[in-house]
Amino acid sequence: MGSSRKRLLRLLVPATTVATTVVVSTVLTPVLSANAATSDHGAGRARSVIFINGDGMSAAHREAARLSLAGLDGQLTMDKLPVSGQLSTSPHDPKTAITDSAAAATAWATGTKTYNGAISVDVKGKPLPILGRQAKAAGKSTGLVTTSQVTDASPAAWFSQTADRAAQDEIARQYLAVSKPDVILGGGEDWWLPAGTPGAWPDKPAEDPSEASKGTKGNLIDRAKRSGYQYVSSAKELAHAKRGKLLGLFSNEEMFQQRPEGQGDVYSPAVDLATMTQKALDTLSTNKKGFFLFVEEEGVDEFAHENNGARVLQAMKSLEKAVKVARSYVAAHPDTLLVVTGDHDCGGLTVEDPIDSDESGSDLSTEDGPFPVHGSNLKFVMDWTTTEHTGADVPVTAQGPLSTLFTGKHPNTYVHEVLSRVLTSRH
Ligand SMILES: [Zn+2]
Repeated sequence: MGSSRKRLLRLLVPATTVATTVVVSTVLTPVLSANAATSDHGAGRARSVIFINGDGMSAAHREAARLSLAGLDGQLTMDKLPVSGQLSTSPHDPKTAITDSAAAATAWATGTKTYNGAISVDVKGKPLPILGRQAKAAGKSTGLVTTSQVTDASPAAWFSQTADRAAQDEIARQYLAVSKPDVILGGGEDWWLPAGTPGAWPDKPAEDPSEASKGTKGNLIDRAKRSGYQYVSSAKELAHAKRGKLLGLFSNEEMFQQRPEGQGDVYSPAVDLATMTQKALDTLSTNKKGFFLFVEEEGVDEFAHENNGARVLQAMKSLEKAVKVARSYVAAHPDTLLVVTGDHDCGGLTVEDPIDSDESGSDLSTEDGPFPVHGSNLKFVMDWTTTEHTGADVPVTAQGPLSTLFTGKHPNTYVHEVLSRVLTSRH
């Protein structure tokens, strides 16, 4: 598009007057919209939504992954989606202008800004209507897939309401008793079982002895089975699971160990995000009324908190693979809106040349790398300014019906405005 558009400009601009330039842009407009009509911007009816969160992912994380995976002239699949914009992420919190994952996901799922730690309740603690339940009420299937605990803040806000994100056993209880997502895949088995009931993932494993079952709501895995869920706990069982309601728990807590470099940091999920995403789509897509699927790679955020560049790149690679699965699905199902974004920045990351003289920070925050630029002799480093979240905007890319609405800059509550058009209407 870029080079042909330039060529067209050269042909059409005989003189460098302002008036001519105005004429040229009106000539160009029909050319661009003709392309748009035949591409994936589709004005058609949206039945389903796949919403993908790179937790903690802002522009620099995407650029580091682009250099590492695709190279100087390459493009990530998540960046190839035809529509892009940006979202601001600030919460409404009496103590801070910087959001956490709970307030950010509440903005998406409810359209309301709230305090950090809130799971779809307002600043006074009042429960808000949530898209995960509204989609169900509209006859759609729903699902969530994450490398975090399935009850962690970002998935939780779509399917539960609680004043405190730490109440993950209560969040699990609400999934089963109230929201009933059809597919629940990820980590966090510890919250589904009472203390002393280790389950498929043993208590106090060597890689993190602090992990152990700690639920206070009874044996929720048994309860899920009684409610008609197939329960799986390994890649093999997941592969063999039949269509129908599905609960898969593939770790005690997160599906990785978030630590600084060389201190027991592990990114090696028992089932990768792309595999979980594919399974969820296979199951949810059988509903003719459509579905809502939330997909999340949590490792981007958690390893950015540890300023661990190498592991952030691994998590980005996993996310990119899941986006490819989603994009293939959307290519074959043009009634599906696909959105890829982050809930906030984490780490205040910059992507820099490996020059010794500008080293900034010490200890954790020293630069990571150098990492090779794919297909090149060049290298880059990842430099961190904080181990916390920042207020930097996050890019949002989208494909499918209604995707053009994401053009421009919006507050994160705008996600709710667009998604509710699909998820709250009965077709
Ligand atoms: Zn987050």
